[in-house]
Amino acid sequence: MYNDFSISDKARKLVLKAEKDLKDEFQKIDEICDINSLKVLKAFNRNNISEAHFNSTTGYGYDDVGRDAIEKVFAEVLGAEDALVRSQFISGSHALNVALFSYLRPGDLMLSITGTPYDTLHEVIGIKDNPSSLKSFGIKYDQIDLINDDFNYQGITDYLKNNKVKLIEIQRSKGYSTRKSLTIDKLKKVIDEIRKVDKEVIIMVDNCYCEFVETLTPCEVGADIIVGSLIKNLGGGIAPNGAYIAGRKDLINLAGERLTLPGEGREVGPSLGINKAILQGFFMAPSVVASALKTAVLTSKVLEDLGFKVEPRYNDQRADIVQNIIFGNEKDLVDYCAGIQNASPVDSFVNPIPWDMPGYDDKVVMAAGAFTHGSSIELSCDGPIREPFIAYQQGSLTYSYGKIAVMKAVQKLLDNK
Ligand SMILES: *Cc1c(COP(=O)(O)O)cnc(C)c1O
Repeated sequence: MYNDFSISDKARKLVLKAEKDLKDEFQKIDEICDINSLKVLKAFNRNNISEAHFNSTTGYGYDDVGRDAIEKVFAEVLGAEDALVRSQFISGSHALNVALFSYLRPGDLMLSITGTPYDTLHEVIGIKDNPSSLKSFGIKYDQIDLINDDFNYQGITDYLKNNKVKLIEIQRSKGYSTRKSLTIDKLKKVIDEIRKVDKEVIIMVDNCYCEFVETLTPCEVGADIIVGSLIKNLGGGIAPNGAYIAGRKDLINLAGERLTLPGEGREVGPSLGINKAILQGFFMAPSVVASALKTAVLTSKVLEDLGFKVEPRYNDQRADIVQNIIFGNEKDLVDYCAGIQNASPVDSFVNPIPWDMPGYDDKVVMAAGAFTHGSSIELSCDGPIREPFIAYQQGSLTYSYGKIAVMKAVQKLLDNK
C-alpha cells in the first residue's frame, strides 16, 4: 500500500524506527492534551453551550449570543478576564495591529524585548516606512534583542528605569528567525522582572503557534494581553478565519472600540454563520495541537537520524508547533517541501517552486495543501532560499497524516541521493 503511494520500504522503516524512540515524548504531549481538553470542556459546561449558540447574526450583529458565549469560553480557557474572538479580524497580524493601535497614543513609546518583530509588523510599527504606521502617528519604537535565545533581563530592567514605556511586545514563536521560541517559564521570569520596576507598562504577547503547547497560558503568568490567529492553533483546523485578543477587561474593551468604532465597540460584529465552526474548532484544538506536536517531534527525530541539523531536537522542551530542519542546500529543502505538498489532501498534484514573495527579500518555497487557505495548523512547510536553507514546518490535523507526509518527504530526499 505504501509502495503505491511512492513510499519505499526504506523510507517507511526509517520513520517507523524513529517513532519507536518517541514514546516518552508522545506521552508528555498526551498528558498536556488531556489537561487542555479538560479546561476546554469545563468552559463549555460552565457557559452552558447549547445548539442555540450555533446560530448567528447578520447585519450589525447585535445580541449575537453565540459570539458572546464564544468569547466567554475563550477567556476562561486562556486564563483571561475577557476576550475578543472575531471573524472581522482578518488574520493574526490584523489583530496585533488592532491591539497596538488600541493602546498606543501619539508620543507613547513601544518596546519589543524579543528583537525585531514578525515581518508583517514592520510596516505597522514603521520599522519600514508606511504612511499609516504607528510611527506616522508619532508613536516611538525601540527594541532590545535576545541574548543566547533568552531575554536580556538586565538590559530590559535598566531600560524601564530610564524610559517611560507604554507597551512591551513579546513574540514567543520565532517567525522566520533562527532563534529558539520562548517557553512559559522564560515568559514568567521576564514578566516578574518587569513588574519589579514597572507596574503599569502593558505587556502584550504575540502568542501565535504557542497555544495549547503547554498547560499554562501567558495571561496566567502575568501578561496583560495576548493575541493569536484562528487559522493556527486555536481554530483546530475548523475555524474558517479570524483571530483573538484576550486579557485584561479594560484592554479588551479598548480593542473592541478600535476594531469597530468608538461607541459601539464589541457590541457589534455579526458572526455570519461561523459560530459552530469556531466552537467545534476550539473543542478540537487541544488534540489537533497534540497531533501537530507529534508530527514535529517525529520530523525532528527522522531528519536528525538522516544527518540533518534540526531545531528543536526531538527531546527538547517545546514552546510552539514549529519544526526547523537546516538542510544546508537548496535542492534538499525544495525536494522536502515537494514531498509534503504531494502528501497533502488538497493540491497534491502541484510542485512547489521557489518564488518571489511580497514582503520577503529572498525567494521562498512553500508547501501548503490545506482546506483553509493559508492555514498553518494544517501541515505546511516553507523556507526562504538563503543560507543555511532552513525549512519551517508546522501543523497536521492528525498524526497519521503527518507521519505519512514525513515518509513521503523522506522518500523525496532519498530519491535525490
Ligand atoms: C503567524 C504569525 C503571526 C500572524 O500571522 P498571520 O499570518 O497574519 O495570521 C504573527 N506572529 C507570529 C510569530 C506568527 O507566527
